[in-house]
Amino acid sequence: MSERELKAAQDTLRDFLAQARSAVAFTGAGLSTECGIPDFRSPGGLWTQNKPIPFDVFVAHQAARDEAWRRKFAMDAAFGAATPGRGHTALARLLADGRLRAIITQNIDGLHQASGVPDAALVELHGNTTYATCLDCGQRHELDWVRSRFEASGGKAPFCEACEGPVKTATISFGQAMPVAEMARADKLSRACDLFIVIGSSLVVYPAAGFPLIAKRAGARLVIINREETDFDEMADLVVRAEIGDVLEPFIQGVAANA
Ligand code: NAD
Ligand code: ZN
Repeated sequence: MSERELKAAQDTLRDFLAQARSAVAFTGAGLSTECGIPDFRSPGGLWTQNKPIPFDVFVAHQAARDEAWRRKFAMDAAFGAATPGRGHTALARLLADGRLRAIITQNIDGLHQASGVPDAALVELHGNTTYATCLDCGQRHELDWVRSRFEASGGKAPFCEACEGPVKTATISFGQAMPVAEMARADKLSRACDLFIVIGSSLVVYPAAGFPLIAKRAGARLVIINREETDFDEMADLVVRAEIGDVLEPFIQGVAANA
């Protein structure tokens, strides 16, 4: 995309945001790659290095839980210090200015919260990897507690102190049920919005990838900002195939400042 094309796309997005009464952003792993956190499906992404551990395997096998926690702590050592990028900052600003109603995210990295987005405006479809919960009783466990147990036992995944259940990061694994309240909130937002902006998602992970379709069918304008093609590009009102940070950087100043 040339600089002129990028500028034209930013102008269109600015117009769409100015005209919208209810705009929703839908974010994926691509939003956080400029923060140093790899996505799943880009070359060299996490997918190519580690096959995800399905939920039933995690529940059934101590060895799988040990491996899941080993990976988690190795990842935290590499990416744990990540801070919000330009895209996060721009979205937080648009929310604060009332230009965005909410953010639906597939990300688990906590960077929307770190950029100042309140929980009331954020729907985390795939949970959050910055803390853990017991799969049996739901009790929250902090990562420091898990890590100290893990290290003290020579790499064994710990059990819940309250009920002896398996402890897992508070994320949704493949094969694990989607969170009911979050799915309902995302569904409602998608149906009610008049502008739906996909940012950094390959749109292949369902049911999350169904929301752009729900929004479009309900009459919303659909914008897709992603460096690669997606299956939904054809039905979009605007496709911006460029770096997310470059596209959203002007919006860090808000919409009005650029009008
Ligand atoms: P994905 O990896 O399937 O797709 C990311 C998309 O973003 C790709 O199409 C890629 O081309 C694009 N992209 C990457 N960097 C970009 C950039 N700087 N500018 C523009 N485009 C860019 O991600 P997904 O659709 O979110 O699905 C992956 C699943 O894995 C999610 O469900 C999520 O829960 C999880 N995940 C989360 C994180 C995170 O929290 N940061 C990281 C990896 C995976
Ligand atoms: Zn428990």
